[in-house]
Amino acid sequence: MPNAESLEVLYSEKVIAERIRILGAEITQNYQGKELILVCVLKGAFPFLADLCRAIDMDVRIEFLGVSSYGAGTKSTGVVRITQDLAHPIKDKHVLLIEDIVDTGLTLRYILDNLTTRNPSSIGICTLLDKPANRRVEVEVDYSGFTIPDHFVIGYGMDLAESYRNLPYIGYFPPETLGKD
Ligand code: 5GP
Repeated sequence: MPNAESLEVLYSEKVIAERIRILGAEITQNYQGKELILVCVLKGAFPFLADLCRAIDMDVRIEFLGVSSYGAGTKSTGVVRITQDLAHPIKDKHVLLIEDIVDTGLTLRYILDNLTTRNPSSIGICTLLDKPANRRVEVEVDYSGFTIPDHFVIGYGMDLAESYRNLPYIGYFPPETLGKD
């Protein structure tokens, strides 16, 4: 596993916090008077949810949806398995999916199709990172923190083989550092 010291930092803790403050204000404004459920897609979105929900200045419900992609490695297969379902119904509620990163879009497509059958009033998408270079299916992202180039990023919830999720910033290993250690 490469050493975190060789990471190239994309977004510092401070930059992430400032962006989330703005996203929270937008969400607060757009969902005024509505019953909003934030659905955190596990595992990668948990730090984002924790910070974002505290930047939203209205009452919200929090739900967790555990998903895992079949297949190993760093490429999405599009075959998704629900490892932990929502604890409560979402019928007639406004749902905002909280994601760490949208890459191919396959995971979100699966989640959207699944949750739509439960008849919520609306389903929105809020992702911290959007990586449009590899998109394979169209998904309409309503709130996006940052649009990033085609790097495999880690930190702030995102992992490499389950490591690095607890880094407070987001970065990537430059290609020359991979294969070492
Ligand atoms: P998609 O189905 O859109 O290709 O990928 C969605 C999921 O794949 C994300 O929620 C995340 O868990 C994982 N993923 C996609 N790109 C990256 C990345 O650059 N770094 C990490 N750590 N995970 C990623």
